[in-house]
Amino acid sequence: PGCLWVVATPIGNRDDLSARAVETLRGVAVIAAEDTRHSRPLLLHHNIATPLLALHEHNEREAVDAIVRRLLGGESVALISDAGTPLVSDPGFRLVRAARAAGIRCIPVPGACAAIAALSVAGLPSDRFVFEGFLPPKAAARQARLRELAGEARTLIFYESSHRVAESLADMRDAFGAPREAVLARELTKLFETVLGEPLGELAARVAADPDQQRGECVILVAGRGEEADARLAEGQRVFAILREELP
Ligand code: SAM
Repeated sequence: PGCLWVVATPIGNRDDLSARAVETLRGVAVIAAEDTRHSRPLLLHHNIATPLLALHEHNEREAVDAIVRRLLGGESVALISDAGTPLVSDPGFRLVRAARAAGIRCIPVPGACAAIAALSVAGLPSDRFVFEGFLPPKAAARQARLRELAGEARTLIFYESSHRVAESLADMRDAFGAPREAVLARELTKLFETVLGEPLGELAARVAADPDQQRGECVILVAGRGEEADARLAEGQRVFAILREELP
């Protein structure tokens, strides 16, 4: 059978595609992409003429069957997503699982990942961290998830869409306490790259007051629960947040 190459693509800067990724994408029979229209310009930029097929949430089941059949028939396939590392808040899990179950070798071609890029410049403890992906979009569910995370001692990493970043930072301040250190990493590897590190109270206020900080793509990192004082404060705020919800 062929191999399934799982290839990371850039998260902004088109040149963050490794030489090995280019060689792999040129060499396979077909590239499975989340959005073929989105990926075509990147592939053209790197002179990659390999045919594309779509693999997204809506056709995943049928596409996975078709790709596994091609792999078993001897063709090699590369999987890419719109940005960064496939399977990290992106499609591909079902394909990799099905390919492995069929005995197909899956080979990573590592590269950009927004969570890791953000962590690498945040200046928060990075020896242990938790990737939380996207928070629930609805306020009540998001606040409940954050309350569950208030006692976490490891650095927390979240993906957030820019139109919810102000709301999420306010909810984080309420759940974790205003003094808790946080970092907003926006537009990494792009023209307006910004990395802001401040206590959650200040960061939430700054972002709420500045529409420019509510644009583009962002990663939010929050320090884990630290010293006792920080923990007591967070608990007080957590209880207050619950009470406030219960009050008429
Ligand atoms: N697979 C990707 C990865 O490896 O990072 C993540 C895909 S997920 C659908 C998209 C989210 O990643 C965005 O909403 C944002 O939170 C984050 N992201 C992607 N590119 C980014 C960038 N250049 N700067 C900051 N965050 C980014």
